[in-house]
Amino acid sequence: MSEPLKTSSGRLGVLTSHLLTAAPLSLRAMASEKEAALAAVPSDSPTIFDKIINKEIPSTVVYEDEKVLAFRDISPQAPVHILIIPKVKDGLTGISKAEERHYEILGRLLHTAKLVAEQEGLQDGYRLVINDGPKGCQSVYHLHIHLLGGRQMNWPAG
Ligand code: AMP
Repeated sequence: MSEPLKTSSGRLGVLTSHLLTAAPLSLRAMASEKEAALAAVPSDSPTIFDKIINKEIPSTVVYEDEKVLAFRDISPQAPVHILIIPKVKDGLTGISKAEERHYEILGRLLHTAKLVAEQEGLQDGYRLVINDGPKGCQSVYHLHIHLLGGRQMNWPAG
């Protein structure tokens, strides 16, 4: 299933969507995430997360301070799936764009992830994920940490 899904259009895309209709829900979710990531164009333009920060579209916010926002993922991959983002992107379309000037916000994001995990009652463990670029399955080019929990994680990640 690896190569054909590398296209999000054309005949192979049609074929894979037919095959996926019969696939388990979890596999379909994974494939659509991957297709969204491959279709995304890496850029520094505003993203849907700016609209969430500016409250132009609804989201379920679980934590907010002057620099960081955390809200529930619209397509949860675990019972708890929260995104933690900087309110000011400052060039951080992804972790691969991190510079020394970002040290403070990067630390804050990780610390917020820990606070939100506690708030969500994830004392038995959780996973933090940062996808980067097309091969890392990144679909939104505004740095975000995924906080996943509430179920047993597997390793290696897909
Ligand atoms: P990534 O694929 O690592 O770039 O993650 C982007 C995440 O943003 C995905 O898990 C999406 O489900 C999530 N997402 C996209 N739009 C929204 C939205 N409007 N509200 C909440 N989460 C969203």
